[in-house]
Amino acid sequence: MQTLINVSNRLPVTIGKTIEKSSGGLVSALEGLGDRYDFIWVGWAGGSVHSRSEREKISAELEDRFNYLPLFLEKEEVKQYYTGFSNSSLWPLLHYISPYARYAEAWWESYQRVNRMFADTVAERAKPGDIIWVHDYHLMLLPALLRERIPGVRTGFFLHTPFPPSVVFACHPNRKELLEGLLGADLIGFHTFTYLSHFRSALLRILGIESEIDYICCDSHKTAIGVYPIGINYEKFRQEMASDKYDRCLDDYRKIYAGKKLVLGVERLDYTKGLRRRLDAIEQYLSRYDHTEDTVFIFINVPSRENVPEYQDLLADIEAKVSRINGRYGTIGNTPIHFIHQSIDFSALCALYSLADVAMVTPLVDGMNLVAKEYIACQTEHPGVLILSEFAGAAQELPHAIIINPYNINEMTEAIVSAFELPEAEKQVMIDFMKERVIKFDARYWADSFISDLTTETDPARMPVSTTELPSQVLQTVFEAEKIVLFLDYDGTIADLKRRPVEAVPDDEINRLFKFLEADPRIETYMTSGRKKEDMDQWFGRYDFHLIAEHGYHYKLRNSDQWEISDPHADLSWKQQVLDIFKHHAGMTPGSFVEEKTSSIVWHYRNTDPEYGSWKANHLLATLSAMLSNLPVEIRHGKKIVEVTSMQISKGIIMEHLLQEQSFDVLLCAGDDETDESMFRAATPETISIKVGAGNTAARFRVAGPGAFRNALRRALEKSFSRKTNL
Ligand code: UDP
Repeated sequence: MQTLINVSNRLPVTIGKTIEKSSGGLVSALEGLGDRYDFIWVGWAGGSVHSRSEREKISAELEDRFNYLPLFLEKEEVKQYYTGFSNSSLWPLLHYISPYARYAEAWWESYQRVNRMFADTVAERAKPGDIIWVHDYHLMLLPALLRERIPGVRTGFFLHTPFPPSVVFACHPNRKELLEGLLGADLIGFHTFTYLSHFRSALLRILGIESEIDYICCDSHKTAIGVYPIGINYEKFRQEMASDKYDRCLDDYRKIYAGKKLVLGVERLDYTKGLRRRLDAIEQYLSRYDHTEDTVFIFINVPSRENVPEYQDLLADIEAKVSRINGRYGTIGNTPIHFIHQSIDFSALCALYSLADVAMVTPLVDGMNLVAKEYIACQTEHPGVLILSEFAGAAQELPHAIIINPYNINEMTEAIVSAFELPEAEKQVMIDFMKERVIKFDARYWADSFISDLTTETDPARMPVSTTELPSQVLQTVFEAEKIVLFLDYDGTIADLKRRPVEAVPDDEINRLFKFLEADPRIETYMTSGRKKEDMDQWFGRYDFHLIAEHGYHYKLRNSDQWEISDPHADLSWKQQVLDIFKHHAGMTPGSFVEEKTSSIVWHYRNTDPEYGSWKANHLLATLSAMLSNLPVEIRHGKKIVEVTSMQISKGIIMEHLLQEQSFDVLLCAGDDETDESMFRAATPETISIKVGAGNTAARFRVAGPGAFRNALRRALEKSFSRKTNL
């Protein structure tokens, strides 16, 4: 049986005198997977267990009884990693409330340390072929750590909170590391498409990574992304409502609330739940309408994160508001708000759900909100009405609720009135629609669909091949060759693309690769680039390479000091006209600039707003095609550049020209963008042409990115290179 290692911050256990398994939503969602997988759960055991012998005893029992692998956190780690970084830094930011997000360097260090501890614990147990499912914001670094540490496993990550708009996420000091941590996963799941879109936008704006609607290709690795709205354990509610205990509760509450209209709110006492504004709406309702005698608002606020200052302030505020409203609108016969700052028994919860005429679920933002779905599931007695915030994930699945904007107090007040006025038949229709969905798409459905997507092999046709090896017949050809000619593009092929072109200077790894290439007497390297000849001299001049600058306009052979012009008769009379258009365009597009070369003009837009820059590029291309159609130019849309160059010049033309006189056994050419396609088109069928990255191509082979290409090249040549190298 395949092993599934589930990893979450907490194990679902309570450790007291005995160890009890708790029955959260996640536990029941995952229970079904236990039939198909050898199911292991890794997580913090909770509390603080100090003595080694005690830890060993607990570990042994948890493993024997439940197949759980516990981690034990020190008090300081709980303070910094959990209360600090996770709940006081990430939680508010993920819920779009950046003013509440606090930060301490020590919290970040602790967060990294604890994520590494999780990786250690998982690595001790995981083996190739296993599936790992990581949950939630406490463990955002874990997917990348696992990818580094454990080869051959598939890792999924599910975010149970919202993902905020990129400008909000960008406020976090560790935004890059957190995103990079997540990208280690093979699949990342969100509750809604909105959060998925925010995540993609953050990748684009913070890491400069473009993505498709359902996946991201990052060098040699693909991360799928998807929407998986979590459901409730409907069966548990159904069974509870068939129990005697539930019946007794219901009878009791019927007597207590006889003749009253009941409005229910259930949530952890959290500033994301919109409690202050809901109380404002209730106060407005009580002041506007004469219902002080017959309406009861039940507020069940489960204590939460009581050691975090924002939660302490919230409690004080809520207590003050409730007491003021009750003082003002209470009568001898009724207290309008029943405030319960405790968790309540499950039978009582189900009874309240089914008795309440209205449920108010009004978070300012909420990943999903299960209470909304639980209320719907419990509508068996009479149809109730759900008032639901448009900013709860659940709103995207339950459009038959009364959807409100929780920032609009009037709208919430009026929603209470409409809920009471709705005819029974209409309420029933609304409930039936929603109930059908809640029952069908339950917690198990959620878990099954996530795991099914995680374990499904990706469609190779839809992504760059993430290989570090070329096919074996190609390697064999290279191995047998006595003379190998390389035509290599630099930016985006050998070196990763950088925000500013000067930053792409060859680093140690690239320099080692170059030394390796020049040390092998069988290899002759042509470094081809769109860069100017001065750049080429400075970066590659010390190697025994032929240099080709400006896509073939200039070239310098390796045994010469002299730059040559490939076609002295190339017509460049169009340059001034193009320069004027480009300069005007750059002026209108902040972050972009124009570069003038001898044989071409380039508009760079890598540092513009990514969406606006792409739109402006398309606009420029359309203008250029119309204006320059009669001129001897070629217009190219490269990676974040638009270039106009002479038609008589291309990498393909210079390659054909320079190879005319040359004999060789193998020609290998590689490139990443449209300017390299001329090489691929000029190549013979035997040429090993390699496209680096995504996009249409005439090349025979593809690798996923520069890192993968460097590996592929090194391995192909290493196999045939007998001397020892230190690469
Ligand atoms: N709940 C509970 N004890 C209570 C009241 C509620 O365990 O006294 C449960 C409720 O049934 C629901 C969960 O707490 O399953 C709250 O989940 P939700 O998604 O609404 O909000 P979260 O707390 O995850 O932000």
